[in-house]
Amino acid sequence: MEPWSCDELDAAAECLARARYAIALTGAGLSVESGIPPFRGPGGLWTKHGEPPLDGYQRFLADPRRAWEERLNPAGPMRELWEALTAARPNPGHAALVELEDLGILKCTITQNVDNLHRAAGSARLLEIHGNATLIRCIECVARYARESIDFAELPPRCPSCLGILKSDTVSFGEPIPPDVLERCFEESERADCMIVAGTSATVYPAAQFPMAIQERGGDLVEVNPYESELTALCRHALRGPAGEVLPQLVERVRARL
Ligand SMILES: [Zn+2]
Repeated sequence: MEPWSCDELDAAAECLARARYAIALTGAGLSVESGIPPFRGPGGLWTKHGEPPLDGYQRFLADPRRAWEERLNPAGPMRELWEALTAARPNPGHAALVELEDLGILKCTITQNVDNLHRAAGSARLLEIHGNATLIRCIECVARYARESIDFAELPPRCPSCLGILKSDTVSFGEPIPPDVLERCFEESERADCMIVAGTSATVYPAAQFPMAIQERGGDLVEVNPYESELTALCRHALRGPAGEVLPQLVERVRARL
């Protein structure tokens, strides 16, 4: 017996098929299914190695050269994370969201994950609210570059366009979400009348605001998560299970309704 019922799946599919503007919010649960360790909870990197300093961005600004030396030669939990990120491949949950986008149903995916797996799977309309670990961002002009295109001979590397200091695109502790991304997340949430919330309890600001705003305006939330979350009570449909199993079945049922 599946942990979710066919009736629930059908109702959620109906909801998506009727939606005028559906978007998705994804988080760590989707990455865990691709073999990337979570930060917190059982097996979490910080559970094992201790919480990182909460002022990572201020430390970067105080000594960007040293921050880059550490980043280019990761040790301990950062090394474990890099190895997992390098080995990770998209799972059927990522692929299902791409399919939903191709069907014209899903207009945008907002992710809290930095692992590049949504892009690797083919998501075209993607907002990476915590950045992307394969990209480098200029802290002055916010231009983003592929890591391979940057010369690390001198540290910190400089922006080819404005000579500003370059940093990983991944948003550090204490660092503001890049305003260009944040603004687009708010715009998409304002337009949405339906949101799939997959693999995240969406309790961390600012991601928590998006589903709440949609629900307050009368929109529908479809939760896909093995566990109940603080958001569950607000969700029209709650599908209990891993995204890699639930999302493909959901998309199949949406397709049948188009
Ligand atoms: Zn720049």
